[in-house]
Amino acid sequence: MQDTTKQSLLSVVLPAYNEEASVPRAAQVICSLLAEANIRHEIIFIDDGSKDGTWAAIQAQTARHPQVRGVRFSRNFGKEAAIFAGLAQGRGDCVVVLDCDLQHPPEKIVEMYRLWEQGYQVVEGVKVSRGKESPLHTLAAKTFYSLISNATGIDMSRASDFKLLDRRAVDTLLAMREKNAFFRALSSWIGFSTAQVEFEVQPRLEGASKWSLRSLIRYALVNLTSFSAAPLQLITLLGLVVFVCSVGLGLWSLWEKLSGQALEGFTTVILLQLIIGSVLMICLGIIGYYVARIYEEIKDRPRYIVADLCEDKTNDGQAETDL
Ligand code: UDP
Ligand code: MG
Repeated sequence: MQDTTKQSLLSVVLPAYNEEASVPRAAQVICSLLAEANIRHEIIFIDDGSKDGTWAAIQAQTARHPQVRGVRFSRNFGKEAAIFAGLAQGRGDCVVVLDCDLQHPPEKIVEMYRLWEQGYQVVEGVKVSRGKESPLHTLAAKTFYSLISNATGIDMSRASDFKLLDRRAVDTLLAMREKNAFFRALSSWIGFSTAQVEFEVQPRLEGASKWSLRSLIRYALVNLTSFSAAPLQLITLLGLVVFVCSVGLGLWSLWEKLSGQALEGFTTVILLQLIIGSVLMICLGIIGYYVARIYEEIKDRPRYIVADLCEDKTNDGQAETDL
């Protein structure tokens, strides 16, 4: 699999959204770490439509380190889109994805790379702990992961976006045409020989987390529905439950009528109306959600739009011959 005559190239993909403070540190730390480990590498920052000076920071790093490149989105497309743009841009024999805030410890890249050299095609970073979070966040994350683990049949409770993928795996992911690709689940779903590396989520040194409660709920809903049709089957189950209740209540009402106590049934009628009405609305909502997903996919819009690219021009020829 690896080229023995020439040293393999590792692409490091870092999605960055409003990370002007983290970009220089990430470039510095990763460059010196990989140089020390004697791993030929390139670093690709994806500026996901940041509103601060992230793009300027990336350009400064490009001028400083010849192996750093930058891609700028025309607006914020989200982390998944940024990861896929990085995979598409990477020229390496393997690609590693990690957070720009370095909450994924970069030292582990070397460990992952060595496993790749041994022949593993997917090396997953798994969280030993979730780092410092509010209890509400942990509970919400647990619920989401147990739902998605059930839906995918893959244990996702400790999964993260910190992964190293072989060129084969990267090309497989890039060939998938779905727009709402959920990277951390898809990269397990594709299979290939997989190894795991455990890591502790590090505290964020610069800036704040980019997730609001609203964006997290949206993220959970989008990814759950793009990976599983279980909520649609839930509708059938709900229908069955309501049907069984209706049969019971129907028999009971009949009995009341036959025994001459029929007038008392008003509360039951109102309750039944409310229950059936709300169940129907919930079901329509779920179906609507999937119709919206289909609508989005069918429009076939690109996952992201690149507004700008930057790389060290003086090194262009060198980079090309290197490949
Ligand atoms: N990120 C991104 N686009 C977004 C939100 C986040 O590219 O819309 C990047 C962000 O810059 C960081 C990574 O995704 O490198 C993880 O984001 P964050 O640290 O905010 O999430 P958390 O670590 O709290 O899960
Ligand atoms: Mg983070």
